[in-house]
Amino acid sequence: MNIEVKLTKNPKQKPSDENKLGFGSIFTDHMFIMEYIEGKGWINPRIEEYHDISISPAANILHYGQEVFEGMKAYYHNGEVFLFRPDMNAKRANNSLERLCMPKIKEEDFIEAVKKLVEVDKEWVPKTEGTTLYIRPFVIGVDAFLGVHPSAYYYFIIIASPSGAYYAHGMSPVAIWVEDEFVRAVRGGVGFAKTAGNYAASLMGQEKASSKGCEQTLWLDGVERKYIEEVGSMNIFFKIDGKVVTPMLNGSILPGVTRDSIIKLCKDFGNEVEERRVSLEELMIAASSGKLEECFGTGTACVVSPVGKLVNKEKTLEINQGKIGELSQKLYDTLTAIQYNKIEDKNGWRVKVC
Ligand SMILES: *Cc1c(COP(=O)(O)O)cnc(C)c1O
Repeated sequence: MNIEVKLTKNPKQKPSDENKLGFGSIFTDHMFIMEYIEGKGWINPRIEEYHDISISPAANILHYGQEVFEGMKAYYHNGEVFLFRPDMNAKRANNSLERLCMPKIKEEDFIEAVKKLVEVDKEWVPKTEGTTLYIRPFVIGVDAFLGVHPSAYYYFIIIASPSGAYYAHGMSPVAIWVEDEFVRAVRGGVGFAKTAGNYAASLMGQEKASSKGCEQTLWLDGVERKYIEEVGSMNIFFKIDGKVVTPMLNGSILPGVTRDSIIKLCKDFGNEVEERRVSLEELMIAASSGKLEECFGTGTACVVSPVGKLVNKEKTLEINQGKIGELSQKLYDTLTAIQYNKIEDKNGWRVKVC
């Protein structure tokens, strides 16, 4: 791919205090953009000044939601910048695009575009311990046509946002609300795709969880409301009676890059890992009998998010006395050390950008 680079003439002031970055509200000087036109394919890849985009009020994305996104990070350590398994994001983007009848992007082009933007904006990758440059690639259908039909015209855009450490005040276990009314996704639907509608669908459950004093929603399957799917917008893991257990991918669960990496690390550590259906009943019994040793969510944003409490209509169950589990902590420490190039990367997951 031949990416044209048009550098901004008005570079912005970079944030002066990396301890106050927060998440997702500051954007770098540049963005990547290319267009898809039916018959021509993806054309005109370029990096230009970060700017607002103009689309028709009749654009598909605004009415029928043809959208796919990805979430990844660039990590700074000792003068170098790395990505973590960008090939997995490129593959997943294509699985999402296919499900939404949107045009695919060559894996190598996706990775090249991400790398190029990070390289151009490398001064924006924060350097303070735990901080990252969050990268948001996305594709939208922009055809100005109100018929329900796949768009003939798309944008692939990548924006980037310097972000603060997720655990600025240290890792602390969260409480999760077992949601038995609203569901996030159903098998046969678009749950496995990283697409906008899934997040709109999840907001109500999230609000409910907050109203119950919980940080995250525990999503059950959309058909029987019996099996555990995910927690918030993270995958979920349990340590039950010595074994690591995570719901198997079934079409309504988002296949996380972190999930895949955690499974491999657990196996490297010598833990048995089971990918299978996990019922809420099994979980409640394990929690009541003290066999639920650990529980944690996984995702690019948090890496590992320990769960200290399981709350439903009837009761609140504490997990591991509300403390961070030993395995949770070890997984967090190991994965972040790989991402920041602080330890050997046996699986070849790190990709150096510059
Ligand atoms: C993005 C996401 C995840 C985590 O995926 P990672 O690739 O690990 O960041 C899990 N569940 C949902 C619903 C997500 O959107």
